[in-house]
Amino acid sequence: MVLEKKTQPRCSFCDSIDVSLLSPFGTAQLVRQYYCNSCHSVFEFIRWQSTEEDEQEV
Ligand SMILES: [Zn+2]
Repeated sequence: MVLEKKTQPRCSFCDSIDVSLLSPFGTAQLVRQYYCNSCHSVFEFIRWQSTEEDEQEV
C-alpha cells in the first residue's frame, strides 16, 4: 500500500488529479471546492488530514 505524502485532491467522478481549486472553503470549513479539468465537474474535497493553517493558495 502506498501512502500519499500530501492530501491529493481527486475528482470524485473520474478520479483525475487534474483539478483546480475553485474556492478555499465550501459548505463546511474542511471542505474545499475543486473543478475537474478532465470531466469539467465541480466537486468538494474534504481535508481531514491537515489541522494546520491553510496553505496560501490563490
Ligand atoms: Zn473529473
